[in-house]
Order: sequence, then C-alpha cells, then structure tokens
Amino acid sequence: MARKILAAGNWKMNMTPSQAAAFINDNKEAFANDEVDVLFCVPAIDLPAALAAAEGTNIKIGAENMYYEEKGAFTGEIAPCMLDDLGVKYVIIGHSERREYFAETDEIVNKKVLKALEHGITPLMCCGETLTQREQGVTMDFIRQQVKIGFLGISAEDARKVVIAYEPIWAIGTGKTATSDQAEEVCKGIRELICELYGAETAEEIRILYGGSVNGGNAAELFAKPDIDGGLVGGASLKPDFSKIINYK
Ligand code: PEP
Repeated sequence: MARKILAAGNWKMNMTPSQAAAFINDNKEAFANDEVDVLFCVPAIDLPAALAAAEGTNIKIGAENMYYEEKGAFTGEIAPCMLDDLGVKYVIIGHSERREYFAETDEIVNKKVLKALEHGITPLMCCGETLTQREQGVTMDFIRQQVKIGFLGISAEDARKVVIAYEPIWAIGTGKTATSDQAEEVCKGIRELICELYGAETAEEIRILYGGSVNGGNAAELFAKPDIDGGLVGGASLKPDFSKIINYK
C-alpha cells in the first residue's frame, strides 16, 4: 500500500491569529493538492482562526503541543479535550525545541502520545540526534531509544496511526539539510524498529517524515526516498513558497 505524502508545517511561535487567517486565505488555491496531505500545526491561540480559514479546503490544522492530563491545575497547558472541542485532529509531540527549552523527556513524550491516541488525535512524534551524537556515531542508538520509549504501551493498532518525524537537531532552522541519503538511512532504521516492535504490516503503513531545513528546492529529492513520507517544515511553512513543497513533483 502506497503511503500518502504529508507536507506538515510547524509554525512554532510565529503568526498572530489574524496573520494565520490571512496567510491561509491568501494561499489556499496554491496549497491545494489532493495527492498530498497538507497540514499546518499552529500556535494554540491561532487554532480557531486557522480552522475557520481552512474550512472547505484540503488544508488540515493541528496543534504544536498538548498536555497529557485531562484537566486541572496545570497553568498554561492545553488539554486534549480542548483540541477535541475545536475539532483538531493532529498534534506535534516532543519537538526538539520542547525537549530542549521545556525539559520534555522521552517519558513525557510517551504520555502525550498515548493521550493523543486516546482522544483520536494523530500525534506527530518527533525524534532526532544532536550534532555530537551524529559525530560520535550513536545516531541510530539514540533514535531507537527515543522511538522505543515514545511507543511504550502503544498497541499495534494505534502505532500505525502515529506519524514519526525524524528531525536531526543540527538541521533544524540552520539551513543545513541532511542529505537525502542521511535522512533515508535513519528513516529506514526507524521503519525497521517499528517492524521489530509491531511487525511488517504496521511498519509498511506508518508514515515517517523528515524535518530539518526542508524547502522547495530539496523536497523532491527527500520525498523520493522509499522511507521518507513527507516533511515536517518550520521556516518554509511560513511563506507562500510552501506550495513548492506541496507541489514537489
Ligand atoms: C521544525 O520546526 O520542525 C523544522 C524542521 O524547522 P526548519 O524547517 O525551519 O528547519
């Protein structure tokens, strides 16, 4: 079964609600492509405006983070039922910026992934090595650990619903893209791990994205690799040129 390419934007802490609405409204024709899944993960406060602007288009809207408790005394956090209530069906979990600046561990990532699945929200679970880890030759060991812990307690039926985003930290926001061979090597390794954990059918079905300075010029080569099913895109998803990634062929 062919896996559908997913072009997912991560806006990070950019765009006000009115800017979000204007960006989607102004570019929805350019972003239309039924052959590719198009998703923008936006700041929580932008969700209502982005959802309204994307209504009736092929564009899906997701969140950038979510807490793993249902409700309560967790000032500043977003509960899964709040995303549910808006009809949000995607959420980024464990982005390296959340791991670095907000102390998210593999265990926290696992709790969030489990909670998102419980609510029928597709988690885009991020993993990725530092430059030191790559230079020391421990990339795959590190990624396997992140993915293994991230998937603890997840059934095979649920595992196939998760999207894994491989994002080498040294390539995020640096303009330094992994070569398509480097990206493929790790994405293939992740698929092999999913096969070990859940069997060949799940491994064949699960989508694995590459993220790290993806742009209109390199998307085609990256997405042509057999184990890369699209991209998680930061900087380039804030510009109309994101259409070049969507229409990479
Ligand atoms: C990201 O935010 O996940 C990302 C990959 O950013 P960029 O595309 O800007 O490197």
